[in-house]
Amino acid sequence: MLNLILFGPPGSGKGTQAAKLIEKYGLLHISTGDLFRYEIENGTPLGLKAEEFMSKGELVPDEITIGMLKNKVNDNPEVNGIIFDGFPRTLAQAEALDRFLAEKCLSITALIALDVPDEEIVQRILSRGETSGRSDDNDESIIRNRIFVYNEETAPIYNYYAESGKSIMIEGVGSVDVIFNRLTATIESVC
Ligand code: ADP
Repeated sequence: MLNLILFGPPGSGKGTQAAKLIEKYGLLHISTGDLFRYEIENGTPLGLKAEEFMSKGELVPDEITIGMLKNKVNDNPEVNGIIFDGFPRTLAQAEALDRFLAEKCLSITALIALDVPDEEIVQRILSRGETSGRSDDNDESIIRNRIFVYNEETAPIYNYYAESGKSIMIEGVGSVDVIFNRLTATIESVC
């Protein structure tokens, strides 16, 4: 199985690239942000809880996020591999993911990080906000908080997987196709 973590700050293009990668390699795409938005749209208890945090640009607590992620993986036992997008976002989530995969004799193949400067991120998310309908994309202070939380809580996960030689950084600025070509070249060097 090819299990990839697509990594990078909010707005770095993970969702766009994941959609193209699943088509090319036949993988399952798991975006915890999308899963939360689905729960919110359906007004579930999980969605109501998640919305409290998402609307402020904060992380949803680990126990909620990890449980939801495990359910999604367990519901799809027949896949060729998984692209994790927006998960893990804390070291505790990364450790929980590794333990969970190890119980199934699986592991993360590689973490691929998209490198995009903060100011480019803010501009991209503000312009996405014009059409995405996402309230967390429209307010610059919420966007800056998401970037702050990313730098504090999420960025260290790069070093965590680097310890086992699994982290790869690629340039995340350029056209969608150019970045996709960088990603596929990287994936084909690790699979
Ligand atoms: P973006 O990458 O643009 O921030 P996402 O859709 O990945 O968008 O995430 C939106 C929000 O959902 C995050 O700001 C956070 O509140 C919540 N969220 C998504 N994934 C996680 C996670 N793994 N842990 C905690 N919160 C999460």
